[in-house]
Amino acid sequence: MRTTKYQTKMIIKTEGIVLKSFDFRETSRIATFFTKDHGKVKGILKGIRKDHKKFGSHIDRFTVNEIIYYHSSRSELHLVSHCDLKQFFFPIRQDYKRSLAANYALELVDAIMPVEQANLEIYQLILDYLTSLETIRDIDKLVHVFQIKILLLSGFSPHLDSCVKCNKKILGQARFILSSGGLVCPNCPSTETSFSLISKGTVASILHIERNNWANSVSLGLTLTVKKELKYTLNNFLTYHLERKIKTAKYL
Ligand SMILES: [Zn+2]
Repeated sequence: MRTTKYQTKMIIKTEGIVLKSFDFRETSRIATFFTKDHGKVKGILKGIRKDHKKFGSHIDRFTVNEIIYYHSSRSELHLVSHCDLKQFFFPIRQDYKRSLAANYALELVDAIMPVEQANLEIYQLILDYLTSLETIRDIDKLVHVFQIKILLLSGFSPHLDSCVKCNKKILGQARFILSSGGLVCPNCPSTETSFSLISKGTVASILHIERNNWANSVSLGLTLTVKKELKYTLNNFLTYHLERKIKTAKYL
């Protein structure tokens, strides 16, 4: 990263993954990037729709780009002066379900992360996820590994090591209570009527994924029952914490 102080504006050079973009006025586009050095950054690309040679990228979703922008201290919207395509992930775009899974992750990152909060681990997580999505067949598993890791890296992880009420280790099946943020053992009373039962295998899978790197996490075998429980529990947990549904989740 090269940062040059110029009055109140700084010129920042970094890499960014396009989370979303939309047309603005006659000739411009506004894009949200997740950048390597500064987290989520919003930028305007002036004239990109008029002069196609001005930028070396069409800022398609989930492309990786090298960008240079003028950091504004007054606004969250910064002026992007250069944007060059680095990675396109063509195999994902050729496959409908893989594209959906990619878009789901972008929407999730956008919902979870505040603007301009640097998080290199999340940047790397998105790259690992997109790279695996190009080739790995089990798309559901990739989505679950991504969900568990982003919850962990953004500080939202559910409490699964022990009972949230008595702190004792849980043996066997437990209740997963959203409002308590994790597992409650059979011995602890709870007036909460909304809970899901979660098996030991599912808890062990989540803990394995939290404690291992990307490669070791995606090589973990998941049974159909574990997958079913993960899908139900993780989607509900995310909806509860974000206080809204991720739109693309229903298509997965
Ligand atoms: Zn307990």
